[in-house]
Amino acid sequence: MRWLILSDVHSNLEALQTVVKAAEGQYDRVVCLGDLVGYGPDPNSVVEWARARASYCIRGNHDKAMWDPEVVAGFNYAARIAAEWTREQLTEDNLQYLRELPRGPLETGGFTIAHSALSDEDKYIVCEADVLEELRYFDTGLVFYGHTHSQTGHMTDECGRLLSLSPQLPRGRSRLALQLLPGERYLINPGAVGQPRNRDTRAAFCVYDDMRQDVEFWRAPYDVAATQSRMEACGLPSALVQRLSFGR
Ligand code: ZN
Repeated sequence: MRWLILSDVHSNLEALQTVVKAAEGQYDRVVCLGDLVGYGPDPNSVVEWARARASYCIRGNHDKAMWDPEVVAGFNYAARIAAEWTREQLTEDNLQYLRELPRGPLETGGFTIAHSALSDEDKYIVCEADVLEELRYFDTGLVFYGHTHSQTGHMTDECGRLLSLSPQLPRGRSRLALQLLPGERYLINPGAVGQPRNRDTRAAFCVYDDMRQDVEFWRAPYDVAATQSRMEACGLPSALVQRLSFGR
């Protein structure tokens, strides 16, 4: 089975459609690691796509913000404005879907998915100490997580040593394969579809082949200006519009 692993789509339909087209024929099933909404201009279309296509989807903090005012209260100004706007746009059916999304971590067929840390759904995994802490919380050899929007990964070798994986995908290169080795453990962040960081504006995602035991890191250039125009037309905060130009 080949899995399309998507995280942090953030209502960016333009980026999502580009990713789906780029990965066409390369996957059998879809997994979403949360944050379908927030920031971007097309929350309903993105949620409807996930409802129709995702075999597994867990909630992210921006999904939870649609029904939990405490989450919104912890957001910065721009995220709060975007969350309130998104909440007003969502249809009842789509809101209900977000409300019913399971909390991670979730074990699927042979691997684990989480929006952020397995130990705490609101915690960011950023440093080695965070990763070492996380290793205590899962039994499968492979975890996919999101939340930081950073395409990255970590692995432990047979001696328990922690190694960082920094997939380098310069412009002109769209994918990079990582062979998973038996007995080793991996935490992999596919990066964000809808608000990519790493100073790279291209949409980020992964494809995992559980027969070949490899993970491909992908980058797909999408029409950033089209998303930005839609955001401006919706009156979304300019800081959110601008950051898409810088991939940060
Ligand atoms: Zn996010």
